[in-house]
Amino acid sequence: MQNFTIQDCIQNFGQALYAALHVEEQTAFSSGIESLSDAKNEIFYLLSSVLKKDKVFLISHGNYVLSNMEWEAFVSLFERRKEGEPLAYIVGQKEFFGHLFFVDSSTLIPRPDTEILVEEAILFYLEQEKNTEFNFVDLGTGTGCILLSLLKECEKSFGCGIDINAHAIDLAKQNAHALGLSERSRFFAADFTSSLFLEQMEEVLQGRKVDCLVSNPPYIPEFEYNELDESVRAYEPKTALVSEQAQNGEKGLAHAEKIIALGEKLLKSGGLLLIEHGYNQGKAMRKLCAQYHYTAIKTLFDLAQNERALYAIKK
Ligand code: GLN
Repeated sequence: MQNFTIQDCIQNFGQALYAALHVEEQTAFSSGIESLSDAKNEIFYLLSSVLKKDKVFLISHGNYVLSNMEWEAFVSLFERRKEGEPLAYIVGQKEFFGHLFFVDSSTLIPRPDTEILVEEAILFYLEQEKNTEFNFVDLGTGTGCILLSLLKECEKSFGCGIDINAHAIDLAKQNAHALGLSERSRFFAADFTSSLFLEQMEEVLQGRKVDCLVSNPPYIPEFEYNELDESVRAYEPKTALVSEQAQNGEKGLAHAEKIIALGEKLLKSGGLLLIEHGYNQGKAMRKLCAQYHYTAIKTLFDLAQNERALYAIKK
């Protein structure tokens, strides 16, 4: 091997990663690289993971020469990334709403667009009079990123996260522990599309109603799945991405429809429902929601000004 310094790695491997993976246009479901600086930044993350040092250390120790073992570990991570494996799975974590979350292949990688649900739910929490315990429910919680970000900001709240994948639930519990939120959160594995779920949830709630129901459910129609970035299809769980059509035929909204119906039963009057959806599903979501007992139905926009989430208040 040659003697590579941190600086060499950033320079040479950043360039190579850019050449291998760059894509011109980014969407929420492409995990490619847009610019050379994105690629260099990813090399920083790979080095951080190998050397167990943060970016500030790496920048200020650019002349540090990697040991044989460090070099081999770095190259093997680099090769995985070059093949298209998402960075978050390689380093085992992803930042969301200012916190680091453990991720693995059992969960979707948290996306920045999902942060708009968190922001909106926090605003709602702040407006409420909290005479009684305020509680959030997150359906399809994955890493727990939405629920745990909420609990972190909303100090007097409690939350319950549900996912069909028991492994994701273990991961969400680890995230809760790492963020010091184990006592205010509860996670369990269940299928919220099953007819038994409402009863299960009512048992958990013991007569209480929910203040805010949030979800980033699967919402990609089967026919659009093949258009997603190869790195998403090859690595992220399809069950977290794709949903069937709703009863009225709207593609990809079967899960969203179940959540709207569940919200009608579980939310307290005046409670908030927030559901993420695809950029082209705003109108269909408002229409679906209007069939149930909600008011103030509107659509929230994401960072790229696409319609991204349904907002509704339970009547
Ligand atoms: N709630 C998680 C997230 O926003 C997982 C969503 C999902 O699996 N569809 O990242």
